Amino acid sequence: MQAKERIRFCPSCGARSIVKNWYRLRNFVGFPIGGKRVTIRMKVQRYKCKECDFDQQEKIPFATGSCSYTHRFAKYVVDLLRGMTILDVSNHLSVSWDTIKEIHSSYLKRHYSPPSLDGVENIGIDEFAVRKGHVYKTIVVDLDSGRIIYVDDGKGSEALNKFWRKVKRKNIKIKHVATDLSAAFIASVMENCPDAVHVFNYFHVVKLMNEKLDDIRRKIHSLEKDINKRKVLKGTRYLLLGNSADIFDNSTRQGLRMP
Ligand SMILES: [Zn+2]
Repeated sequence: MQAKERIRFCPSCGARSIVKNWYRLRNFVGFPIGGKRVTIRMKVQRYKCKECDFDQQEKIPFATGSCSYTHRFAKYVVDLLRGMTILDVSNHLSVSWDTIKEIHSSYLKRHYSPPSLDGVENIGIDEFAVRKGHVYKTIVVDLDSGRIIYVDDGKGSEALNKFWRKVKRKNIKIKHVATDLSAAFIASVMENCPDAVHVFNYFHVVKLMNEKLDDIRRKIHSLEKDINKRKVLKGTRYLLLGNSADIFDNSTRQGLRMP
């Protein structure tokens, strides 16, 4: 079979000086019929221009560039891969493992290419452990859309280097950054994003405050000689953390005034 009628004008310079320039017989794996492998054999014409250096094969409507399979076949493979391994699909369709892998890779690349940073202003940075804590990943999320915009191996500031480089290259202006209280993240944000407001996770701030408050309570408790005052000091954590306007009990109010 032949793809379509010949081109007459040069797509590059527009001159009417296009001539045929050899052809190749190419095979394409097609959608199987009745469980049988289908091969489409086609004469693919090359054209060149006598005026410029244009030299290309004709466009094939059912396949991409130099791929040896049709669009319809590639779609079928991607559908099968949702429930089967590459090896299963390769055996089932009698097509090489490499071809199935190539179809899958190009599908993933087309649909999950590196996310764009355009319009990103507010980000969250965190790290998490995988493989039972043996491997760390650092992740950046666009807080407005919830999209994951960056993932890299490792933890700490080094894992963010590529991300900051991309931010600089694309001239992205980050307004707010949310992280935990990790010193590495704080240093990394201060160095690469000095104008952004750095927001700390509420949980980590409260945790830190509770720890400091406990330290102070313990210190005062151990220093206090008066046994009655020590009794009052004991168990005051919730009293100190509570909102004084909510405390209606008089003896509790007294306890708050005592120390
Ligand atoms: Zn030309």
